[in-house]
Amino acid sequence: MSVDPVFRLSVPPVVDAFDFARRGQVVEGAFSIHRLQRLLEGLAEQPLGEVTELSTAPASPGVVRYVIQGRRTKDDKSQLVMRVQANLVLECQRCLGPLILPIDRTTIFELVRRESDLSDDEPDEDDFDAPEQIVGSPKFDLAELLEDELILEVPYVPRHMQCPDTADLDAQADEVAGREEPPSPFAVLGQLKKGK
Ligand SMILES: [Zn+2]
Repeated sequence: MSVDPVFRLSVPPVVDAFDFARRGQVVEGAFSIHRLQRLLEGLAEQPLGEVTELSTAPASPGVVRYVIQGRRTKDDKSQLVMRVQANLVLECQRCLGPLILPIDRTTIFELVRRESDLSDDEPDEDDFDAPEQIVGSPKFDLAELLEDELILEVPYVPRHMQCPDTADLDAQADEVAGREEPPSPFAVLGQLKKGK
């Protein structure tokens, strides 16, 4: 039995988590990143991403897309599978220029009834498919869960692999080295000024 996804142009809803899993429900949608206040606190200014229609929701900065599916496993566990996509604008800590971080994260959550049901076992770091245990509730805020996932993706010290400015300078340096041109009058003037 498959359930058609519910499309939303808004943040994911508050749901009864176990019911959502039992019915195999799916919600899918897109919304402006400006709805996520906790995430925004730690970020550079994000562009305004207007979402008017899901099918045209661009993968541009300012917009968050998600698909969340509930399911029951063969061994009768309740799970939520969440995929979240966004392009966050960060500030590179080397050149202080803008850096766009594409995020596409899928996480499997396993619902437990109460805190005491959470497993004490250390999660297996190598097993990326291992579900993450969370406490489910009848009023479970999927938007909050999504926001937590995005916050986890923000690097502590964001940096370009190669900063655009230094890349440009390197290219210019190569060019200058390749052409043995006499110094321009302006360069000479610059040196005169410095020597003063
Ligand atoms: Zn940089």
